[in-house]
Amino acid sequence: MPSASLVAAPTPGAPPARLVVDLAALVANWRALVAVAAPSRVGAVVKADAYGLGLVPVATALAQARCTEFFVATFEEGRTLRDALPGARVWSLGGLPAGAAARFRACGLLPVLNTADELREWVREAPMAPAAVHLDTGMTRLGLGAAEIDALRADGVLDRLTLDLVISHFSCADERGHPSIEAQLARFEDLRARLPPAPTSLGNSAATLLGPRTRGDLARPGIALYGGHPFGDGTPNPMREVVSLHARVLQLRDVTTSDVTVGYGATHRVRPPARIATVGAGYADGYPRALGGRAWASIAGHRVPVVGRVSMDLVTLDVTSVPRDAVQVGDYAELIGGGGMPLDDVARLAGTISYEVLTRLSSRAERVYLG
Ligand SMILES: *Cc1c(COP(=O)(O)O)cnc(C)c1O
Repeated sequence: MPSASLVAAPTPGAPPARLVVDLAALVANWRALVAVAAPSRVGAVVKADAYGLGLVPVATALAQARCTEFFVATFEEGRTLRDALPGARVWSLGGLPAGAAARFRACGLLPVLNTADELREWVREAPMAPAAVHLDTGMTRLGLGAAEIDALRADGVLDRLTLDLVISHFSCADERGHPSIEAQLARFEDLRARLPPAPTSLGNSAATLLGPRTRGDLARPGIALYGGHPFGDGTPNPMREVVSLHARVLQLRDVTTSDVTVGYGATHRVRPPARIATVGAGYADGYPRALGGRAWASIAGHRVPVVGRVSMDLVTLDVTSVPRDAVQVGDYAELIGGGGMPLDDVARLAGTISYEVLTRLSSRAERVYLG
C-alpha cells in the first residue's frame, strides 16, 4: 500500500495535502485484467483525466506495460493523449461533434460513432477512416438502434464505413446475474448482425471480470485499473489499491474543559481530556464533506475518528487514543487509502461511488507518482 512515508519528505511550501498514485499498482491491475481476459485484448479507459489521477502519467505507465488501446470521453482528452503517446490507438467515447471530423482525422483520434448523423458525417468527411459504432442495447443513453442501422444500410452508408470496433455498455454489470445482462447481450447480437463484421468491445471493469461473453474482443476497464471495487457486492476487492490521500497535521490541541466544540456548526462536543489534530485537507481537495463525524482516518498506524464537519481546507481528527509522542505537527494522516479508510468505504459513507470520489480529487494536493 502506498504510504506517504515511502516517498520523500514534503518540499518546504508544498501543500499540506498529498495525493499518492501508485503506478506500479495500476500496471499490476492492468496485467491482472489482461491475464483474466485472454485471449481478449484489454484497453484502458482514461477519460476524465484518468479518473482524476492524471491522464498523461497514467496512460504513459500503461503504454510502457504494452497497453495500446485507450478510451477517452472528449476530443480534447483524446488530443492530449495522442500528443503524449503518438503510437496509441485512442477512441473517443463521446462521439463525433458536428463539424469535428477533420479535427479527429488530423490528430488520428478514432471516434466512437453514437448516432446516425455522426455516421453519415464520418463517411462523408473521412471516407474509409476507421471508426467504432456504439449500439444501444439498454442504457438508452448513446448508441444506435435497429431502425437507424437499417436506414443507414438502405442509404448505402454502411458500405462506405471502415468498421474497426462495435461497442455497447451494460447498465448492471456490477450486479452479478442481473437479468438485464442477458437481455442486453441478446440485443447486441441482433444489432451487430445488421452491421459489417467487426471486433467487439463490451466489458467495463465488472463485465470484463464476469466472463468472455460480456467482455468482447477488446475489454475497456476503467475503475478496476484505479483500484476501485468492480462489484458492489461486499466481496473483498480483487484489485490493488492505487490511490491514497494524505494530509499533514497543522496543529494539535489538548482539550481539558467540557465546553469545547469542534468546527462549523459546533456539531461535535469534545469529551475531555482529549486531543484534536487538525490536518490540511478538506472538501476542496476532494475529501467528501459528507464524511464529517462519520469516517475514520489513520495516523501513526492508529485508527482515529473524523470529528466535526469537514471544512474546505481542514479536517479535524480525535487523536486522544494515539500515544502523545507518536504524533507531531507535520506528520501525515491517511484520509483515503494508504492504511486509512479504503476508497470504496469512503464512497459508500459519502453516499456515492468510488468513481465520483476519484474524479473529485482536486489538483491542489501535491501529487506523487510511485513506480
Ligand atoms: C466509463 C466507461 C467505461 C469504464 O467503466 P468502468 O466501470 O470504470 O470499468 C467503459 N465503457 C464506457 C462506455 C464508459 O463510459
